[in-house]
Amino acid sequence: MGHSQNDLHASLKKYFGFSQFKGLQEEVVRNVVQGKNSFVIMPTGGGKSLCYQLPALMQEGTAIIVSPLIALMKNQVDAIRGISDEHGIAHVLNSSLNKTEVKQVKTDILQGVTKLLYVAPESLTKEEYIDFLQSVKVSFVAVDEAHCISEWGHDFRPEYRNLRTIVSRLGDDIPIIGLTATATPKVQEDIIKNLGITDAKVFKASFNRPNLFYEVRPKTANVDGDIIRFVKQNAGKSGIIYCLSRKRVEELAQVLQVNGISAVPYHAGFDAKTRSKYQDMFLMEDVDVVVATIAFGMGIDKPDVRFVIHHDIPKSIESYYQETGRAGRDGGEGHCLAFYSYKDIEKLEKFMSGKPVAEQEIGNALLQEVVAYAETSMSRRKFMLHYFGEEFDEVNGQGADMDDNTRNPKEKQEAKDDVLK
Ligand code: ADP
Ligand code: MG
Repeated sequence: MGHSQNDLHASLKKYFGFSQFKGLQEEVVRNVVQGKNSFVIMPTGGGKSLCYQLPALMQEGTAIIVSPLIALMKNQVDAIRGISDEHGIAHVLNSSLNKTEVKQVKTDILQGVTKLLYVAPESLTKEEYIDFLQSVKVSFVAVDEAHCISEWGHDFRPEYRNLRTIVSRLGDDIPIIGLTATATPKVQEDIIKNLGITDAKVFKASFNRPNLFYEVRPKTANVDGDIIRFVKQNAGKSGIIYCLSRKRVEELAQVLQVNGISAVPYHAGFDAKTRSKYQDMFLMEDVDVVVATIAFGMGIDKPDVRFVIHHDIPKSIESYYQETGRAGRDGGEGHCLAFYSYKDIEKLEKFMSGKPVAEQEIGNALLQEVVAYAETSMSRRKFMLHYFGEEFDEVNGQGADMDDNTRNPKEKQEAKDDVLK
């Protein structure tokens, strides 16, 4: 199958209207259309979807896209339908469809109209669907959010573990492309092993975010005061403040309001209408600050978030990276400030104590990394990227001086303290 460079660019333009590939996309697409296995590791927003959407549109047959969330699948299907006159070009196959709808999906696939078929992993275990898919031409299988396969990931889903077996039943040598924004080597190993793609070409983008400044401050009884001061110093800028509990979210939002800061709370305890009201207020800049639990952020793309504050330290470096990653999407400044107290670590440990032992062990190991991050005196960017299996040059690397430890090295700080004494 010879797709030249021109073909790829022409198709990119034709289907998506883009004139350039982003990062490693072109190499990935080429590998996929050549029928080879691929493993793609790119941060959120890196453009992973296109890595399977474009090959699916270019190739004969139907690509199966496994994705954990119905909402995500629906968004993508709508987007793909928007670029084509053919409604059946993309479909979701899941338990919410009635008989007539399932029949339509099958007809479209058999007629070669459907290029992308989105399925949740649990639907793919249905014998009825497996039988059907065995009878059609599957161009490849894409496993999006592939970290769901791993207990070391932040969103383990046991159904993901059956995928290899099912793909093998669908036909011989169906290429697989796994995709994730999880950068930890452990999760990556799990994915490759579980999907049985040890021969896959690995495409890993850098996780460095040079425009983000990382800072950790000790959490004292006056943490609210510290937060108020920070927000006032950054008046008029958009920011997110993460808290662990819903109660704290509501309290802190109120404290900020009382102190003249325009802020709204956000957590999963509010009904959908209230949640979307507060979210819109933040997006439309009716308020500067949203105080939220981790329920806030998924799929929210406000490009000019200027700071992300963690009132409570998160349970893994992975989560911290994801949450702080919402700052500075536009490439402008993004200040990531975490308040840390070992007491909070003990609290998180306590939360886990009711869970199965294996889960606790993993949870504790992840927490110890958070402790190490918070207590380190080295470049926080170097620490984080090292955790993600990436070497960072703390002298010449991009964003090398963008953290508290590098700007104010401990020895210098101590010397200064001595002088003051
Ligand atoms: P990920 O799944 O890696 O988080 P997405 O696939 O959702 O990222 O893509 C993130 C954004 O990047 C989308 O808005 C998408 O339209 C845009 N995008 C992807 N590829 C390109 C490209 N080649 N040129 C311009 N924008 C792109
Ligand atoms: Mg994605």
